[in-house]
Amino acid sequence: MVNRLSAAGFIHRLRTDFTFASVSSLALTGVVAVTPFAVYRYLRGEWMIGTVDLLLVLCILSSLGYALVTGRNRGAFNLIMAGGVAACLGVTYLVGLAGNFWTFPVLVGLYAVLPIRAALGLGCALTLTVVWVGKGLPTVVEVLSFAVTGVLVSGLAAISAYHVGRQRQALELAAATDALTGVGNRRRMSGDLEQSARLACRGSPLPALMVLDLDHFKRINDECGHEMGDRVLIEFANVVGKTLRQTDSLYRMGGEEFLVLLPMVEPTGIALVAEKVRARVEEQLRSPLGPVTVSIGAALYRRGESVAEWIHRADTAVYEAKAQGRNGWSIAPRIDGRERD
Ligand code: GH3
Ligand code: MG
Ligand code: MG
Repeated sequence: MVNRLSAAGFIHRLRTDFTFASVSSLALTGVVAVTPFAVYRYLRGEWMIGTVDLLLVLCILSSLGYALVTGRNRGAFNLIMAGGVAACLGVTYLVGLAGNFWTFPVLVGLYAVLPIRAALGLGCALTLTVVWVGKGLPTVVEVLSFAVTGVLVSGLAAISAYHVGRQRQALELAAATDALTGVGNRRRMSGDLEQSARLACRGSPLPALMVLDLDHFKRINDECGHEMGDRVLIEFANVVGKTLRQTDSLYRMGGEEFLVLLPMVEPTGIALVAEKVRARVEEQLRSPLGPVTVSIGAALYRRGESVAEWIHRADTAVYEAKAQGRNGWSIAPRIDGRERD
């Protein structure tokens, strides 16, 4: 286990937590930029402004340390931003024009931490307040220049944050989607199953899962070609997707095996869902060899078991359905004697 406050812990966090990586790199750049000013001000005996700089550096370092130890980004990042805004206003108040320039990096930083609209609102408010607080912008042209460049920096940062956000969403979606069928992939499946097992252990209603395995799928591939096999898989995902409720989720485990998560289901309802899926597939799914069928194994979650055990019980039930002649379903035994459900 990595010590979170060590260099290794910091590097691990940079690699695994995108938000932490982007905010901490900006904030640490700020520390590198501000520290020499703090030293310079103290050397010149300008205690007030030196202290403002020093407080900002301490605020950034302690907030990052807090985020590193607790894993809570939100509060720490808000504190860094509040520190940046306060320091910017403080320095502008104390030294005038030289302080105004610090508005620009703070404006950029706002977009790393806040949602775009909030950053835009706060950014405009900060620019105007700096104009109001500052004493170094004597003419209207200078005031206008500062205000316009502030709004421009804010706008450019907003556009860039918007595109980065969209790209990130698209990447996250692609990383969680099966490329052939468009349903959730194994990665998303593992996350969702872990979450529903955790919720069930905290007392939520028990979820169930169904493993679906197409019958004699190899024959379709062998006799009609891999491309036809792919088309059948895509159509299968369509048919099952349309048969399920919106709250249910369909994933491709791999090959011709799929998994359905039923987050809330009466134990007696599992058989109904399994039969509905089996019947729809038999009715609607066709290959050049004729109707395509599916065998289904279902398992209601047992509190305390691991996700691997849960899937294994459903897998065993699939084998049973296959052994009983395919195009059918089987449900894993529910109770080990300790549960009340
Ligand atoms: P059973 O009824 O016992 O499940 O028989 P089956 O033929 O469906 O099962 P088997 O595990 O023998 O064959 C699965 C086949 O699925 C073998 C493999 O070539 C094929 N397959 C796996 N992934 C893909 C894929 O992405 N596309 C296509 N077209 N075929 C795939
Ligand atoms: Mg199989
Ligand atoms: Mg199969």
